[in-house]
Amino acid sequence: MEEIVLIILGLIIGSFLNVVIYRLPVKKSIVTPRSYCPRCQTKIKFYDNIPVISFLILRGKCRKCGSGISVQYPLVEIFTAFSFWFSYRQFGVSPLYAAFAIVFISILIALALIDLKHMILPDELTLGGGGVFLIFSFFHPEIGVADAFITAFGSAMIFVGFYFFYLKVRKIEGLGFGDVKMMILLGAFLGIKKMVIALLLASISGLVVGVFIIIVKKKNLKLALPFGTFLSLGGYISLFWGRPILMFLQSIY
Ligand SMILES: [Zn+2]
Repeated sequence: MEEIVLIILGLIIGSFLNVVIYRLPVKKSIVTPRSYCPRCQTKIKFYDNIPVISFLILRGKCRKCGSGISVQYPLVEIFTAFSFWFSYRQFGVSPLYAAFAIVFISILIALALIDLKHMILPDELTLGGGGVFLIFSFFHPEIGVADAFITAFGSAMIFVGFYFFYLKVRKIEGLGFGDVKMMILLGAFLGIKKMVIALLLASISGLVVGVFIIIVKKKNLKLALPFGTFLSLGGYISLFWGRPILMFLQSIY
């Protein structure tokens, strides 16, 4: 029963995340007005706004003007629902931690897609989320308060170093300042052990995709990648599998 409730909640929050992803980077209110078709401006009726189901019934088209609705909408809803259910399965023994895990995941999903589309990481999500998780660290069952604060601000400081290194030495913005702020979000909730794994995964996946794009699309080395998207991916994987990955790496060395 709890699992069904969480899946439904995930679909609803996923639908809200789509609104956040669409409106937050362009500084539109995420509360009002009601959702509308970006092409014909028609307000979307509540029965056409049911997560996943409406997309299937409407076959991915606006009821009024027939313009295509991005497949991103149902995909985000399904992925959010899956993540909520999976958090419950993984962390259900500690309901408070599971609740904060789904907040963390929701923020990562929004950041991943906003950075991918706009190359920005809004402060509301990075610093806002970071603040929430620093406070939560007093109740965190896995890591201590010191771990949360040191990991959050220590990794942010290291990234500030990278930021100025790129700026001075290579004369490019290799990292945005949004990535620095995102360190506080990630570090405060993950703690040092899972943070190391998250950064490792983000760097490897970013490097692989970067090299792939340079070779296949013949872009030059100054190509900018949405590193926040890779940080989100690393943070997500590390949240669930950071410990087994760390144990695996320790067993090799
Ligand atoms: Zn329309």
